[in-house]
Amino acid sequence: MLTVEGIETCYGSSQALFGISLTVKEHEVVTLLGRNGMGKTTTVSTVMGLLKPAAGTVTFEGETVSGLPAHAVARRGLGLVPEGRQIFPNLTVRENLIATAVDRGADGWTYDRVTALFPRLRERADQFGGQLSGGEQQMLAIGRALMTNPKLLILDEATEGLAPLIRQEIWACLEGLRTAGQAILVIDKNLKALNRLADRHYIIEKGRVVWTGSPADLTRAPEVTERYLGV
Ligand code: ATP
Repeated sequence: MLTVEGIETCYGSSQALFGISLTVKEHEVVTLLGRNGMGKTTTVSTVMGLLKPAAGTVTFEGETVSGLPAHAVARRGLGLVPEGRQIFPNLTVRENLIATAVDRGADGWTYDRVTALFPRLRERADQFGGQLSGGEQQMLAIGRALMTNPKLLILDEATEGLAPLIRQEIWACLEGLRTAGQAILVIDKNLKALNRLADRHYIIEKGRVVWTGSPADLTRAPEVTERYLGV
């Protein structure tokens, strides 16, 4: 579904990625792991077309998307839940959800289905995004991405800074999406939850993939988690 081959991405003269390659297949849940500042967000920003790679390619469903503007990449079926949520604070919850929605027919995500998944969003439908709690804003960010009916959902630190109960709700939501066959690329620090959810992990260190394997492989390699994740 998604093939990233040798991407190199720079911020001005400072190079952040040095040839990242990874794949996500249909129905797969894949993670990007690594300490702060290692290049995870830069990788997903490059996949989404928010940053242009100096080298390498991003292919989605057999077509090259690197070089396309971000809105065109999103239209191909990539949905991002960005770091920091970035909901529209001056739009209501309902408006946030429908602003970027893409209708994919009866089987797709609709306003009713998303607010059934997160009932709190229905309760707060007429409140402004900026008035919501952090957890509610995160649900809104996930709901907004689902409303684009993405073939691949990408989440960047979706549980960061949230209370334990809300985190659990978000992990349960992701489990449900996985069971329904949703392909997901996820960045998070909660290795325990990711080990339950993921098919494959990629560990990124200083802009390079340094390890890849299944959750079972990672559990058998404590030296890897210690070295690259500090766990
Ligand atoms: P975090 O978990 O802290 O978000 P990360 O693994 O997602 O970490 P990135 O945010 O991709 O890491 O950062 C990779 C490198 O690029 C770091 O050295 C960072 O300082 C640098 N970087 C990130 N954003 C910018 C920017 N806007 N301008 C310049 N350098 C940046």
